[in-house]
Amino acid sequence: MISANDGDDPRPLASAAMSDATVKLRPRGERAMIACHDPATGAHLGDVPEATPEEVRDAIARARAAQHDWALTSFAERRRVLRRLLEYILDHDEALCEAICQDAGKTMHNAMLGEIWPICEKLRWTIAEGERHLLPEPVSSGLLKHKRARIEFPPLGVIGVICPWNFPLQNILGPTIPALFAGNAVVVKVSEWVAWSTARFQEMLRQVFTDCGHSPQLVQLINGGGEAGAALVAGGVDKLIFTGSVANGRKVIAESARSLTPVVLELGGKDPMIVCDDAALDQAAHAAVSGAFIASGQMCLAAERVLVNDAVYEPFIERVVAIAAEVKQGPPLAGAWVDVGAMTMPRQVEIVAALVDDAIAHGARALCGGKPVPGDGSFFPPTVLVDVTPEMRIFHEETFGPVVAVTRVSDDDEALRLANGTGFGLSSTVFTRSAERGRELAGQLRAGSTVINDWALMYMVNGLPFGGVGDSGFGRLNGREGLRACTNIKAVLEDRLPVHRPVKLFPGAPGDYASTREAIQLLYRRGLSGRLSALGQLARGLWRRRR
Ligand code: NAD
Repeated sequence: MISANDGDDPRPLASAAMSDATVKLRPRGERAMIACHDPATGAHLGDVPEATPEEVRDAIARARAAQHDWALTSFAERRRVLRRLLEYILDHDEALCEAICQDAGKTMHNAMLGEIWPICEKLRWTIAEGERHLLPEPVSSGLLKHKRARIEFPPLGVIGVICPWNFPLQNILGPTIPALFAGNAVVVKVSEWVAWSTARFQEMLRQVFTDCGHSPQLVQLINGGGEAGAALVAGGVDKLIFTGSVANGRKVIAESARSLTPVVLELGGKDPMIVCDDAALDQAAHAAVSGAFIASGQMCLAAERVLVNDAVYEPFIERVVAIAAEVKQGPPLAGAWVDVGAMTMPRQVEIVAALVDDAIAHGARALCGGKPVPGDGSFFPPTVLVDVTPEMRIFHEETFGPVVAVTRVSDDDEALRLANGTGFGLSSTVFTRSAERGRELAGQLRAGSTVINDWALMYMVNGLPFGGVGDSGFGRLNGREGLRACTNIKAVLEDRLPVHRPVKLFPGAPGDYASTREAIQLLYRRGLSGRLSALGQLARGLWRRRR
């Protein structure tokens, strides 16, 4: 996190503003401040300063300086740091969840399930498996039997991360853990909609690095909006991992094109959930409800379109409505149990309402919910929308709200056609009792992942890469691919034996062209007769040229 005017101060701007009057902040009028609110109550939590582009560049410079020593650490040392981070998270799990809930409006259970647990699992996996994916990997040296070939995975330097608001802690640590383990420093631009918790998370990181004897500048969290994000893209980071909307993903690409900064884009989704006529309906109905209501639907992997076979359409809907009727919504930190919290960004309520209104105007039916909840908090009620068709906006545009949108399909072909019928391709789900049918449908779904008879669970399998195709972006987080994405995948070719005979290409001789051609023919001709004839040509050529 950047400090206001002191390059050596590792404290985040936000925490400095809140807790330490001795830090020389610029007068309030001179910089943009982010007003932070609790989305569940509308209460004003406080203001945090927005980083200026100059401060973003300073943060990158400090991260780069800290990375120098970090790159020299062993994997054992990096594991020690990650173990300490895991320990810290386990020791402070509830306090971290409270910070998340206050900032994002989500429930404590969702914060524990959807943030703390995936982070702990990612740390466990990286500690257990990370090293073997980053060790030099020998590969065949092909024709060059006198050489040894391998791929090495040195760090890139400083990785920039730009986050959305839906998972305040997970969005930060998801890319940061592999980037750090691969030997990089990280500068994270946090979403302006969850800027209040930044100071708490920076405090955690600073504590962990300090406890382990490393520079707290290794991971810096920056508060700010689009301008700070753009400054990070343009600021000379060695790679940029952007998670957010398609529209801003395009802006990031345009900006990164100027500096040729490589980017990973994790963008939106409109994930289909296909429910076949042989599906276990209770299982599918619960998955549809969880897939749409978890985190108030503000999840890139949300089950946004449920495509249900005609033969089981009515019984499936009955089950979904029965589950939805029991779901409780309200302010997450008010004491009573609630299943669904608030919408983090107030404008998101309007976006969801507009999509639901459009669907109803075109023939869909809301069997529960459907209209925003009046009051100070930002709430859209858990909604079940049926008879959704591809003509409606909600079929194509990301809802990012607690809406189970059900579409009737006549068979698997129609389900596949509709499932693949949007520009997005993040994840997908199939419910069927037939393993063969599941595999067949999975093979034809255009998406970065498919889960059969469950929803989004592949995210908890850290050996699996995570990412999308089409409008859902490109590049991969998680797994071997996610770790290696944080490295300079480098080819190394070295001697097998200490033989130092020169390869004399210059000066050449008139026969060089012919002998090169004959060698190629010999190497790549197929079949015995072809190779024998190539060998004959080569032998004759050599004989002629020697005379
Ligand atoms: P957003 O695009 O509005 O903002 C994302 C981040 O980009 C924010 O930090 C924002 O300040 C920053 N930003 C804005 N303009 C920028 C610019 N010109 N240059 C650089 N950065 C800029 O997205 P959001 O509303 O915060 O998040 C919701 C979106 O994120 C949804 O589309 C959702 O599907 C997607 N998402 C995707 C994944 C995934 O892994 N694929 C995960 C979570 C969320």
